[in-house]
Amino acid sequence: MKQYQSWGRYPKIDKDKQDIYHVYPDSFSFPDTNESATDAPLFLAYGQGRSYGDVCLNEDGILLDTQHLDHFIEYDKEKGILRCEAGVTFENILQLIIPHNWFLPVTPGTKYVSVGGAIANDVHGKNHHKAGTFGRYILKFELLRSNGDRLICSPTENSELFNATIGGLGLTGLINWVEFSLKKIPGSNIEQETIRFNNLKEFYSLSDESDKDWEYTVAWIDCLATGDELGRGLFIRGNHCESKKKHKFKTSKLSVPFDAPGFLLNKYTVNAFNHLYFKRPIKQFSVVDFDPFFYPLDSIAHWNRLYGKRGFMQYQCLIPTEHRETAMNEMIALIADSGQASFLSVLKEFGDIKSPGLLSFPRKGTTLALDFPNRGQKTLDLLNTLDTITLKYNGSVYPAKDARMSPDAFAQYYPNWKEFESFIDPSFSSNFKRRVRPSKK
Ligand SMILES: Cc1cc2nc3c(=O)[nH]c(=O)nc-3n(C[C@H](O)[C@H](O)[C@H](O)COP(=O)(O)OP(=O)(O)OC[C@H]3O[C@@H](n4cnc5c(N)ncnc54)[C@H](O)[C@@H]3O)c2cc1C
Repeated sequence: MKQYQSWGRYPKIDKDKQDIYHVYPDSFSFPDTNESATDAPLFLAYGQGRSYGDVCLNEDGILLDTQHLDHFIEYDKEKGILRCEAGVTFENILQLIIPHNWFLPVTPGTKYVSVGGAIANDVHGKNHHKAGTFGRYILKFELLRSNGDRLICSPTENSELFNATIGGLGLTGLINWVEFSLKKIPGSNIEQETIRFNNLKEFYSLSDESDKDWEYTVAWIDCLATGDELGRGLFIRGNHCESKKKHKFKTSKLSVPFDAPGFLLNKYTVNAFNHLYFKRPIKQFSVVDFDPFFYPLDSIAHWNRLYGKRGFMQYQCLIPTEHRETAMNEMIALIADSGQASFLSVLKEFGDIKSPGLLSFPRKGTTLALDFPNRGQKTLDLLNTLDTITLKYNGSVYPAKDARMSPDAFAQYYPNWKEFESFIDPSFSSNFKRRVRPSKK
């Protein structure tokens, strides 16, 4: 039976306390309720549950499962414009468009996300420095509000609601369908260069040097290395290129079948893995298929079970450029010292391209994302300390990855919330919203 949880599997939601409604195209309408009644049900759309924390959870409320909103509506192969229902996944879209040399304008590190979810978190990818966020490519969408209104939102029609819904964490209503523009590519391959770097300084110079000529850049870092090697890692940059063979879509055969025992991930196993990964022989230049380049983790189904029954938390922050070296040094040293981090640590420079969303996370600076197995209070304490560093340097934390930031931290990270509040649908809420705005529904 489908489980409605988030990717980090924390917090755990009692399945009896979260009702599920399936949304079908055109036939869905909200039940008549008196929204001012204190016991009126609160709704939240659910895409593919690929958010790590609690933005896609709604304990004591109703989740609107959008998996049946899975139809393509219109596809202009000449202009590269696609209209589809909001539950369509990036995987479905790639299968449709790759044969015609179109690509997603922006994609996160998994293709198992829905278009609605990608808008609600205004997702970013390895091309943020060139392309900004997914929200920039949205031409229009239909938003169903709980009072029954179906509103077309675009940069020129209901434009304020358009901007609030992009990055609006699902709180402005249910997105029914979306129209957005695609990106032309020469073929389904990527020419990739992988470069080892020995510390953060080298990362920054590689990143700055790559911004102009490389569409995609990202780095994997060993967050347990210290001293002169603090922030060492592998820098990966790539551009689309032609492919002689037709791309074959495959489904992953590898899967983590059950929850791994909690002790599997500890500082010794992670240290050994990081060391081997960093020192392994690398091929500097290669031509690779787009799938492993963009979605390496998708090749192992249910990899989140590696963290055991208690789940895990991701911390993804953004530090503005002027503080990037000092702040990252402080953070990575603290993380290395704690011995708590896992092996998946990613560093990326965001560009100076404004996101359309009122609450969008990306802005110019460095983003660091890393996973922590859930070890209870010890993990929460570490992440709270990371928050004090992020706050000190005027940074912010990504709600799509969060399950624990405090209301105070949220208020400082997202000062636009006050403006945003007036666009929230009164019958919509989420665990995330109730946590960061505890006095409200
Ligand atoms: C391996 C992995 C890698 C990732 N890499 C990145 C990355 O590189 N960049 C990045 O930005 N993110 C990344 N993410 C996070 C992921 O892209 C986002 O959390 C995305 O929003 C998940 O989409 P979803 O369909 O699973 O939505 P869900 O997680 O189900 O929901 C997310 C939000 O969207 C809302 N929502 C969903 N559908 C609708 C709808 N129809 N109408 C209104 N609101 C809706 C929900 O209410 C919720 O608030 C990654 C996640 C994973 C697991």
